[in-house]
Amino acid sequence: MAEAVAPKVRAAQRRIVSTITSSGVLNRDGLALWREAGCGEWKATAAEIGQDLELLEVPYTIVTAFRFPLASSYNKPMRRGEEVRIARGDLTHLTRWMPSLKETIGDIPEDCHGWAFRLFQPRAEGMAIVNLALLADWPAWSKKQARAAGLVCAECDYDLRKFKDETRLPYDIRLPERPKTRRLACGQCCDHGLDEMERLAQLTGKPS
Ligand SMILES: [Zn+2]
Repeated sequence: MAEAVAPKVRAAQRRIVSTITSSGVLNRDGLALWREAGCGEWKATAAEIGQDLELLEVPYTIVTAFRFPLASSYNKPMRRGEEVRIARGDLTHLTRWMPSLKETIGDIPEDCHGWAFRLFQPRAEGMAIVNLALLADWPAWSKKQARAAGLVCAECDYDLRKFKDETRLPYDIRLPERPKTRRLACGQCCDHGLDEMERLAQLTGKPS
């Protein structure tokens, strides 16, 4: 690079390259960097990463994203954090500062997953499609971690992250006594959400 680069830009580049090397997650949709809420004392927060990306003129968004609970805390809530995301189409703005990334991007298989974990949610008025706000590395979680995050079928323990078998897609089938708690089941175990949709429709008094 022949052009003169301001020292503060150079410093931002160093920080971003090191952050991506240690915690970047790359997939079909782009690159993601997750930070647990309240991590600021030890690491750069999502907002600080964003400031560096602005200096480097790399477009990004910050979204809320959840990670599986800690192993020691069964039945504990998911860990909330913020994820800095750079869309795949914008990665060229980043490879300018981190040329080694080009090869890694080229190696992403076309059938690679993206950011979204999509599920079906039966509602009285019909079937909705919902995206879970998960940290981008959800496909790499162990089955135990996925179970703690509720990503296996509550009935048969099938790993719902596969998305290969169309008869076993994830549906949100809540227990009548816990209507506010998400509970996923595979299509085979819940008749593809149809019974649940009917139950909810009857609750609201609408004819189904
Ligand atoms: Zn099942």
